[in-house]
Amino acid sequence: MQVYADSAATTAMSQTAINAMLPYFDKIYGNPSSLHSVGQRAREALDAARETVAQCLGCEPREIIFTSGGSEADNQAIISAARWGEKKGKKHIITTAFEHHAVLHTLAKLEKEGFEVTYLDVREGHNVTAQQVKDAIRPDTCLVTTMYANNEIGSVLPIPEIGAVCKEAGVPFHTDAVQAAGHLHINVKEQNIDMLSLSAHKFHGPKGVGALYVRKGFPLVNVIEGGAQERGKRAGTENLPGICGMAAALKEACDHIDENMPRVAAMRDRLIAGLSKIPHSAVNGDLTHRLPGNVSFCFEGIEGESLLLLLDAKGVCASSGSACTSGSLDPSHVLLAIGRVHDVAHGSLRLSLSEYNTDEEIDHILEVVPEVVQYLRNMSPVWRDLQTGKRQYIL
Ligand SMILES: *Cc1c(COP(=O)(O)O)cnc(C)c1O
Repeated sequence: MQVYADSAATTAMSQTAINAMLPYFDKIYGNPSSLHSVGQRAREALDAARETVAQCLGCEPREIIFTSGGSEADNQAIISAARWGEKKGKKHIITTAFEHHAVLHTLAKLEKEGFEVTYLDVREGHNVTAQQVKDAIRPDTCLVTTMYANNEIGSVLPIPEIGAVCKEAGVPFHTDAVQAAGHLHINVKEQNIDMLSLSAHKFHGPKGVGALYVRKGFPLVNVIEGGAQERGKRAGTENLPGICGMAAALKEACDHIDENMPRVAAMRDRLIAGLSKIPHSAVNGDLTHRLPGNVSFCFEGIEGESLLLLLDAKGVCASSGSACTSGSLDPSHVLLAIGRVHDVAHGSLRLSLSEYNTDEEIDHILEVVPEVVQYLRNMSPVWRDLQTGKRQYIL
C-alpha cells in the first residue's frame, strides 16, 4: 500500500483541474494580450478564471492578480505594503514567529533596509491571538502579515478577529492563506482581509500558479517588471493553462468544503488519537483551531529524517517539517517557535491529509508509525540514556 500523507507539501491534481487546463495547450493557445480572435478567446478564458477565483474569495475580479504561486504573492504583498509605509514614514511590520519562509525571508530583506519587524510569540496554545496583534500595533505600523493557517503544525489563526483589529487601527492586513484556500471558508470582505495569497498546487491544482487578492485602491508594487499584464502589476504572458486549472480546482474545492473537510478532520482525529498512545510523544499545533488535514507530532529519542525514510519504505509518504526545511539539519523554525527544544524538534513527523485519503490508509499509518518509532528508539543511544535515567525525558 502506498499512502500519500504530504498534502501540505503539494497535492495530486484533480481530474476536473486537468480537464480545465487541456484546451489551453493546443486549442485556445492565444496570447490574451493579442487583439485578434485567437488572442481574444484566451482573454475570455482569463477573465472567466479571474471571475471564478474572485467569487471563491468574496471579492471583485479586478482585485485578483495572478502570480507564479504562493511565494510570489507573499513577496508582492509584503513589498507593496512596505513601500506604501515608507512613503508615510511608517516602517514597522507585525508578523508571527511561525510564518512560511516566503514571508520571513522577505521581511528579513526589509529589516536590512531599516524596517523593524515584530515577531509575535506562538508558544501559548501554538497560536496567536488578536489581542497580541492589537498590543503590537504602533503609530508607525504599515503592515500586519499573519498566515491563515500554519503549514507545519496546522494551527488556524483567528483571521476575522485579527482583520477587525487591523481595520480599526487602519493598518493593512495581509494573510498567507496558502494552506487555507480550498480547505476553509474564506471571505475577504467579511473577514477584513486587505491582501491574501494562495497557491493552486495546495488544493489539487497545478504547480507554479497562484493568486494575490488586493483590496481595490491599495497601491501594489511590481516584483516582476515588463509588459502591462495584470493591470500593469505583474508582467509576463499569463500562464493560461495554469490559471484555468487553478480556477477550476479552487471552485471544486470550495464547493465541496462542507462535504469533504469533516471527513478529512475525522481521519486527522483518528490519527492524532492513535499516535498519541506512543509514549513520550507530543502533538504540535492548536488542537481546537486546526486544519482538517494536519497531524503533527514530536517523538522523543528519534530522528525525523530516519523516521521518514523508514516510513517511505513501508509505503507512507510524510514529512518532518516543511518541504523547504527538510534536507537541512536545522530543526524547523516553527517547532522551535512553539517552544520545542532542539532534540525534541528533530524527532518530528507531519502527516497531511486531503479528501483523496481513505480510512484504510489511516489504518495502515496507525499500524506502521508506532512500529517504526519503536524500531528507531531501540537503536538510539539517546533513547537508551533516557531509559537508564542518564538523561531526563522532556516529553
Ligand atoms: C506552500 C506554501 C507557500 C509557497 O507556495 P508556492 O506556490 O509553493 O510558492 C507559502 N506559504 C505557505 C503557508 C505554504 O504552505
